[in-house]
Amino acid sequence: MNLQNLLNRIRNQFTAQPELTDEVVVKFLNILEQVREDELSCTDMYAKLDEFVENEIKGEDADKLTPLLREHLDMCSDCCDEYEALLTIVEHTTEEQ
Ligand SMILES: [Zn+2]
Repeated sequence: MNLQNLLNRIRNQFTAQPELTDEVVVKFLNILEQVREDELSCTDMYAKLDEFVENEIKGEDADKLTPLLREHLDMCSDCCDEYEALLTIVEHTTEEQ
């Protein structure tokens, strides 16, 4: 199941409740999924995002090297946005060199 799609679906169903933030939805999903103890926090994610993007650009198997990051990206739209922004920046930087 694609968590991002699920997240959007849940969000659409609860638009009448503005206090239902992404954080609340993610927590709700975490309970549903019984998320494992080794799950990354957003802070851990940011610390490793550079490395993850670098590996992707180099064509290394980033998912294999840092599998938990991909999991977190699928669940956390904040980090996913951050990841995509960073990926774009790094790609442009690489092209110019
Ligand atoms: Zn996050």
